[in-house]
Amino acid sequence: MKPSIVWFRDDLRATDNPALRAAADDGAAVALYVFDEESPGIRPLGAASCWWLHHSLLALREDLAALGVPLLLRRGPAAEIVRETATAMGSGSLYWNRRYGEAERMLDAGIKAWARESGMHAESFQASLLHEPWAVTTKQGGPFKVFTPFWRTVSEMDFREPLEAPEPGRGFSGRLPGSEELDTWGLLPRNPDWSAGLSESWQPGSAQAHELLDDFVEHGLADYSVNRDCPDLPGSSRLSPFLRWGQLSPFEVWHAQQGRRRELGDGAAAFASELGWREFCWHQYFHRPDLATANLRPGFDHYPWAWPGGQGGAAQGAGSHEAAASSAETQSAATLLRAWQEGRTGFPLVDAGQRQLWHTGWMHNRVRMVSASLLVKNLGIHWQVGEQWFWDTLVDADPASNPANWQWVAGSGADASPFFRIFNPETQAAKFDPHGSYVGQWIPELTMADYPEPVVDLKVSRREALDAYSSLPR
Ligand code: FAD
Repeated sequence: MKPSIVWFRDDLRATDNPALRAAADDGAAVALYVFDEESPGIRPLGAASCWWLHHSLLALREDLAALGVPLLLRRGPAAEIVRETATAMGSGSLYWNRRYGEAERMLDAGIKAWARESGMHAESFQASLLHEPWAVTTKQGGPFKVFTPFWRTVSEMDFREPLEAPEPGRGFSGRLPGSEELDTWGLLPRNPDWSAGLSESWQPGSAQAHELLDDFVEHGLADYSVNRDCPDLPGSSRLSPFLRWGQLSPFEVWHAQQGRRRELGDGAAAFASELGWREFCWHQYFHRPDLATANLRPGFDHYPWAWPGGQGGAAQGAGSHEAAASSAETQSAATLLRAWQEGRTGFPLVDAGQRQLWHTGWMHNRVRMVSASLLVKNLGIHWQVGEQWFWDTLVDADPASNPANWQWVAGSGADASPFFRIFNPETQAAKFDPHGSYVGQWIPELTMADYPEPVVDLKVSRREALDAYSSLPR
């Protein structure tokens, strides 16, 4: 029997996976994951994402093995490897779940065309977003630029029920082409291995994702609308990396909260609308593939950054700022950037967040906003530099949500927070971490003499930022 191939990408799960279901329905399925370092998308995966991917693939291999579906691991250019594998196996069908980045769509369309020309059945499915970005338009037929009407429109749509995993035992028993050893891909950090904090904090995999979802819906959802803003409480779901990597589908999360919607009201509605922000970020990225590299509001192109944007900005700041620093001003911006990255700004809430990020690969949403605001508005460092740092360090680093949220904080994005909304890290800490327990957890030296003085005067830097903003062309 000719096996069908399921090409896994950002959908590392067996449940609610329409591509896997279609392949299994054919009779014999073989799964393929391609690690394509040259892959399109905003840039190669960051270090924390590589760690997550490694462990996720191990978990996926087990989940699929239990269904009798072997997982082939290959590294190299995806287009070539998919063709090579399908040809070598004499496959009759090729399935995948759709991606929404422009370059990824082009690559997928090329493979689909090749497959069909070769007489193979090729089919793709909606699995990673509740809405397909092209299917939701304003009354004028364009993309949404404001969240509220976007989400009103999307949340009125009917979302299909999640699919069960296919029944086990219908896998492929013929000869398989070679699969690579995951360890040879170098996804895990070595010399030094800095991943202990990640391992303490997470267990990537679909089983863990479902456990976390069930636990959150049972115990966290009722008080979500209040507790979600408090970094000292386990008030939010922590599902973001699992959604990013597709170990849970948005349909599974949507229906899980929907089950308690009537009973819980606000808590569930607030949570659902955060899923809406995820959708909105992808809506933006679909319509603006340059989301990570261009201000959506072009007036911001004229902002006088102390440290400019552009690819490589964060890396320069972290590693080789001496070479990049050509003037005293740049040098001082590089020092500020490094203090921010390392959690030594002298603002405890920001430093706690940056250390939480470094240690666990995740940062609380409220703290992400405060920390990003300090970098962009008080330290005058381009949002793209912060976006790249988060890209490297977050386990949930997402090509749509990360740049969209950075642009939201900076004020340069769609439906963004106005530029003049400059978070004060001290009042934010007093409001959202009133007992200092979050800050105390991450900054044990806070009460000692060696905690740094603030690197910037909040009032002066705020004034300077507002002056710079007022000079931008409208
Ligand atoms: P919950 O509050 O439980 O929310 C449930 C889910 O909704 C999340 O898991 C996530 O998938 C989605 N969600 C929640 N808030 C947002 C939001 N503002 N934008 C988009 N989706 C959202 N989120 C990412 O998933 N990846 C990123 O790379 C990312 N970068 C960010 C950068 C900055 C500067 C900021 C301010 C926010 C960023 N976010 C990002 C959004 C948000 O901080 C995280 O999704 C959230 O903290 C994840 O925690 P949670 O799963 O407990 O969220």
